[in-house]
Amino acid sequence: MPPKFKAGFGALVTSIPNERSDWLRDHLPETITNRLPDLSRDGVAVSDLRDKDCPLVYVNRAFQEITGYVSNELVGKNCRFLQGSDRLQPEIHAVSEAIARRTSISVTLKNYRKDGTLFWNDLRLVPVSADGQEATHYIGLIRNVTAGKNAAEQIEHSARSDLLTGALNRYAFIEEIGNLLIGRQEQILISKIDMAGFHDINEGYGYDVGDQVLKQIAQRLSKAGIAVVSRTGSDEFGVAHPLMPGQSAQTVNATIRSVLSQSFVVAGATINMRFALGYVVGSPMADAMTLVRQAGVALRRSKSSAFLEVREFKPEDERQARNRLRLTREMQQALANDEFGFYYQPQVALDTGTLVGAEALLRWHHGLFGTQQPGKFIEHAEDTGLILDIGSRGLRAIVDYAQLTNDGRATALKFSMNVSAVEFKLRDMPQFVHEVVSERGVNPAWITLELTESLMVESSGEMLSIMRDLRQLGVGLSIDDFGTGYANLRYLEELPITEIKIDRTFVAGLQESRSKQIIVESIIRISNELGFRVVAEGIETDEDCERLRDMNCPFGQGFFFGKAVDAATFTSLSSSVGEG
Ligand code: C2E
Ligand code: MG
Ligand code: MG
Repeated sequence: MPPKFKAGFGALVTSIPNERSDWLRDHLPETITNRLPDLSRDGVAVSDLRDKDCPLVYVNRAFQEITGYVSNELVGKNCRFLQGSDRLQPEIHAVSEAIARRTSISVTLKNYRKDGTLFWNDLRLVPVSADGQEATHYIGLIRNVTAGKNAAEQIEHSARSDLLTGALNRYAFIEEIGNLLIGRQEQILISKIDMAGFHDINEGYGYDVGDQVLKQIAQRLSKAGIAVVSRTGSDEFGVAHPLMPGQSAQTVNATIRSVLSQSFVVAGATINMRFALGYVVGSPMADAMTLVRQAGVALRRSKSSAFLEVREFKPEDERQARNRLRLTREMQQALANDEFGFYYQPQVALDTGTLVGAEALLRWHHGLFGTQQPGKFIEHAEDTGLILDIGSRGLRAIVDYAQLTNDGRATALKFSMNVSAVEFKLRDMPQFVHEVVSERGVNPAWITLELTESLMVESSGEMLSIMRDLRQLGVGLSIDDFGTGYANLRYLEELPITEIKIDRTFVAGLQESRSKQIIVESIIRISNELGFRVVAEGIETDEDCERLRDMNCPFGQGFFFGKAVDAATFTSLSSSVGEG
């Protein structure tokens, strides 16, 4: 646990560039300035940026009252635990960015009290410096604005319609469905629709264009004869429609899809949108709220399908949704308890058999179920945004371990870390890597980031500049599982990468398959000529190893050389094999 905040509150107050703080410092003794925070009705907290996890070092009385935790349950922890499982709120992303840039920010976000109840937190963060130099701490001011929020929601509720589109709001939507369900024989279709990439429209064309698209969507749905049309979220619509004889859920959904798939012409731009759609068909006895929730569960499945296919709600979806929720909570707890760690799998030079480095592979040391492989939880961590926390701790842990291992070694070992595509999209990777590398003073050449091919395909222009910035910092960039995605040799020429890893599916059965041999041989030749490191993955046998060596493959990794082992085991292994 980091040391408690010992310096007087006045010491930080002095660093706020403001005449009044100077006055405080010059005219009032610390005995008085120290009392100020406890008189405030706003929560005041200080976190220490010099510690890697930015723990809270001080909380005032109001902060404890607002959150329901007492000081010693808060001090030493990063205050993100107050966010519960709501890690994907856009405001959280804005806060992380502001902290990374050491700027001030004011946001309102959802937080949870110790007893689990939600409160809306009007949060203001200000970077301050204990010595007048770089920011060393953040002061956070929190205010519980739940009452105001509830009042605003109440007004929205009584207004019934969404101001922008004129469609019903979500409260009125549920009410209307309730009305439809009363005294009817027909079944009711409830569909929820979500626009893919709406965020990009707002960012690319501006919010006014985004607003026009939303209005047109509502109009088109109403004109298509859909009985109840509602805007249920920022870019989400809900519709309800009694199924008359001759109508089926499929025909009504097809109508919806057809009216929405026509281009939107707004302010000189022609925009084509893609939509996810989930639905449920309810009997007249059903409960409106439940149906809307179930359509939402189906929508989520549609959103995660490759081509945004229409999905109907199935009861097992709800079970899965509950399981996901439980997993999210467990993973949050695991992060707080430091249950994630890395195993290290050796990489060797094939001609000499010398150890040259290791790939760090994530493991979850689950209290009940033992050590879990990433296949069981990575995807979920990506879906919930928890991967950001895992990744940021991960890089620090790997960098620290690289320094420990290379201390005193004549030839440094290289350490690779897998970086999820989500991390590339949600965080400023060059800034983040720069921060960690300079904070830890590690030689960046010891660190390689492994990316997947899919990332290259998705947004090549933007990706290219991110990758260039990363290379500038001196870290290596590797394409993982090469050949399994949309392998395109053009990337090898265009992208500033330093390494490719031949996927283990090419190595498995290499002896028997002539075509695999041809593919692997050409990848190795091209890479050697272009000057990349090549690492063959999944080498399991002596024969695989020999064959690859004959093909001039310089490096390899696989069970033949060793499985991934915990840090302590890798340390003794790396020192016992010597330096070749
Ligand atoms: P990957 O990056 O391709 O990692 C190699 C995987 O192949 C590892 O599985 C490793 O244990 C396994 N492997 C290594 N040698 C052999 C072999 O000779 N034969 C066979 N059959 N398998 C071998 P693991 O640890 O379960 O990791 C699976 C995947 O999870 C990784 O694939 C990577 O995509 C992802 N992953 C692992 N750690 C992290 C992480 O820290 N962050 C992120 N975002 N993803 C991670
Ligand atoms: Mg990898
Ligand atoms: Mg791989």
